[in-house]
Amino acid sequence: MSFDMKDLYQDVIVDHNRSPRNFGKLEDADLSLEGYNPLCGDRLTLYIKLNNDIINDISFDGSGCAISVASASLMTEAMKGKSTKEAESVFNDFHHLLTDEEPDLDLEKFGKLAALAGVRDYPSRIKCASLCWHTLNGLLDGSHNSISTE
Ligand code: ZN
Repeated sequence: MSFDMKDLYQDVIVDHNRSPRNFGKLEDADLSLEGYNPLCGDRLTLYIKLNNDIINDISFDGSGCAISVASASLMTEAMKGKSTKEAESVFNDFHHLLTDEEPDLDLEKFGKLAALAGVRDYPSRIKCASLCWHTLNGLLDGSHNSISTE
């Protein structure tokens, strides 16, 4: 792999990969869903506890590369306490941020999630960063089948 680790692995990503937040099974989860990125081998399960439309608690477990783990850690941190509608809107914005040629988005509003914007320059890593998001999206859509990025 030819990407430059120094450019990609910014401090936030290193930190969230080393000590992922909200890591571990949520025992009293209302919903859970598995996501898999065959391209890299990232595999995670997302757990969520809803209170009406509010994401009361969210966690993940599994294993994957630094980007996939850091992204899931950052995502769970950002999604806790959000409504499912807000979560959907952040998902859409984040997806644009990673995949649009010239995203017309204010990085500041992403907070720490902006650290993941660097994967734009590494197309093979975009699925690593977006795996947890697709899994969350599937989970909120009521999907019972595991999510694959392929
Ligand atoms: Zn990966």
